[in-house]
Amino acid sequence: MNSDTTFASLGLAAPLLQAITDAGYTHPTPIQAQAIPHVMTGGDLLAAAQTGTGKTAGFTLPILHRLLSQPAPKQQPGSPRVVILTPTRELAAQVEESVRLYGAHTRIRSLVLFGGVNINPQIRALQKPVDLVVATPGRVLDHCSQKTIDLSRTETLVLDEADRMLDMGFIRDIRRVLALMPKQRQNLLFSATFSSEIRTLAHQILKDPIEVSVAPRNTTAERITQNVVLTEQSHKRELISHIIRESGWHQVLVFCRTKHGANRLAEKLCKDGLNAAALHGNKSQSARTRALDGFKSGKVVVLVATDIAARGIDIDQLPYVINFELPQVPEDYVHRIGRTGRAGSD
Ligand code: AMP
Repeated sequence: MNSDTTFASLGLAAPLLQAITDAGYTHPTPIQAQAIPHVMTGGDLLAAAQTGTGKTAGFTLPILHRLLSQPAPKQQPGSPRVVILTPTRELAAQVEESVRLYGAHTRIRSLVLFGGVNINPQIRALQKPVDLVVATPGRVLDHCSQKTIDLSRTETLVLDEADRMLDMGFIRDIRRVLALMPKQRQNLLFSATFSSEIRTLAHQILKDPIEVSVAPRNTTAERITQNVVLTEQSHKRELISHIIRESGWHQVLVFCRTKHGANRLAEKLCKDGLNAAALHGNKSQSARTRALDGFKSGKVVVLVATDIAARGIDIDQLPYVINFELPQVPEDYVHRIGRTGRAGSD
């Protein structure tokens, strides 16, 4: 693909091109230029891509294009043609927001399903026809067992952030969901990392996929200044609180390994007069939304998160990231600090 590639030259339907223009995108990102034409024609895809590469539009746009160009014979309630599985509620909500954005000039109906919230409104929504569902694996299985969703008409399946889903122990849920879908379908798998487990899964579900790999935009993040602070374990909380207060930092994202650790640190920071919030999987959906909104608006000064919860934070340019504990794998470190130094900022 050369740099002259435009969304129009990829052959996307007019209502989608309009939404792309509305969003202010001028050119497809590398993953979009590679993935869109192939996915539009129904092919399977194995993509190595992280958040920030434009991967969401990379699969959403061609999927919407297919839905538009091949109308379903008869619409059934609760029987989606497209199922997108994501590891977290935040990511599910974010992806569905993208679907709504890119589908704004179409009549495609989408729905987001995740746990931690009352299932009844979701059941009611599934009583109407729906084209596309974005869901976390556990909740979609809940709906399957209550027979409120029917996956037997799935034409396209997307596994987004598949590595995270496996890390979170969703492999059995995923397999159970797949068993309820028709064997003949399109499959797209996105993952930032490729363990042997991911390769096995990809090998089992993808048919003649094209492989697309894009370097995360943050691999050579020269604009990020990295500092190491050596201290006793027992002084870490006190020191972080001191550094943030003394430096007058704002919008600080702190990574902790455990939910418990995140809670303890957030409590300590609050006690010291900083507006801090913890973000992790044990929090209720409303608490998470509140923490995220507060952090985005700048009201929450410090957000203490676990890696998994932080995946759903859609903030492109953070000024400060603190690794309270080092991550287990180097990719996570790159991903964590890559939330700073974007788009020319330091
Ligand atoms: P993603 O990697 O899907 O999380 O997308 C990262 C960000 O890039 C999102 O905020 C998108 O709105 C934005 N984005 C996606 N595609 C484009 C594009 N072609 N041009 C400019 N921004 C884009």
